[in-house]
Amino acid sequence: MPLEIVTIPCLSDNYAFLAHDRVSGDTALVDAPQAEPILTALNERNWQLSHILLTHHHWDHVDGLAAILEAHPAEVVGAAADAHRLPPLNLQVAEGDRFEIGGEPVEVLDVSGHTVGHVAFYLPNSKVVFTADSLMALGCGRLFEGTAPQMWSSLSKLAALPDDTLVCSGHEYTQSNARFALTIDPDNLALQDRVVEIDRARAAGIPTVPSNLALEKATNPFLRAADPAIQAHLGMENSDPAKVFAEIRSRKDRF
Ligand code: ZN
Ligand code: FE
Repeated sequence: MPLEIVTIPCLSDNYAFLAHDRVSGDTALVDAPQAEPILTALNERNWQLSHILLTHHHWDHVDGLAAILEAHPAEVVGAAADAHRLPPLNLQVAEGDRFEIGGEPVEVLDVSGHTVGHVAFYLPNSKVVFTADSLMALGCGRLFEGTAPQMWSSLSKLAALPDDTLVCSGHEYTQSNARFALTIDPDNLALQDRVVEIDRARAAGIPTVPSNLALEKATNPFLRAADPAIQAHLGMENSDPAKVFAEIRSRKDRF
């Protein structure tokens, strides 16, 4: 049975997620931006954490961990490559590793780019991937440590997952990502429709995260660097998608 997913807004624009197995009661938290809203979400449901999955070391993804662990002494999972700069880990993982939440397999993907060592957690049975600051709704994380080819390879890995995968990313940046996406892919009707939906959701205070991989592939310019219309719009016809991605990413940095 698919895990139940709960989205928890934290800080000004972060998201944490709970993934709960109704059969075993196991519950995983993905990222720990802030203790209070996460503890409240757990208390409301009477859930106890079994796992805490950390995607990367930035403070806005780990700051709440110590206070959460006091009430929920769960197993903390994070990248072996980042063990030196993450809080203490009970399980160190790398690309290709698998573990379980309840009976549900979790696969580790290295999605370096935003940081080197950033991981995503893919749950094939539940059709959900936790991408934090790699693939985001209509966007992707800024390249603080990695290179554009590295991020392009990470995004390509995520794009290869099944179309009906739920994409749980780390921030509510979608509305500003949408304004940028329209400058790269102005004639994309699916994007235009999505922007209307995003503006409607944000006006009503509704999160635009999680999203769905098919929709990201149809509208997210960072996944569409091989698209002929985008390449033509950028004057980069028949270019290596990794180079087109680098151009889109650098335009976003200046946007
Ligand atoms: Zn980050
Ligand atoms: Fe972040």
